[in-house]
Amino acid sequence: MTARQYTKCQQDGCSSEDVQEWTIEGYDPVPVFVFCTDHAREFGFCLHCGAFIGGTEDVFLTRQDGICFECFTRQERATYEIDYDDEFDDTSRR
Ligand SMILES: [Zn+2]
Ligand SMILES: [Zn+2]
Repeated sequence: MTARQYTKCQQDGCSSEDVQEWTIEGYDPVPVFVFCTDHAREFGFCLHCGAFIGGTEDVFLTRQDGICFECFTRQERATYEIDYDDEFDDTSRR
């Protein structure tokens, strides 16, 4: 049995059991963290795609925690598309 069973947030003093694994790609071995969503966001993970953005320019670009620039622009576009649904549909299909 190598798989560890995580049942609670790694953050000191946090007893949340609503956790998931967060990894930082680009490292070998890939570090794995177990955080509740609050502390994952605090630590610097994008809550939408799981990318690590702590200390990157994404934070400055979005001015938000818990979302990377990619997800941020996707969300912005989604909001925009709801407002201008017809126009956007036309251009993307032709
Ligand atoms: Zn926590
Ligand atoms: Zn993201």
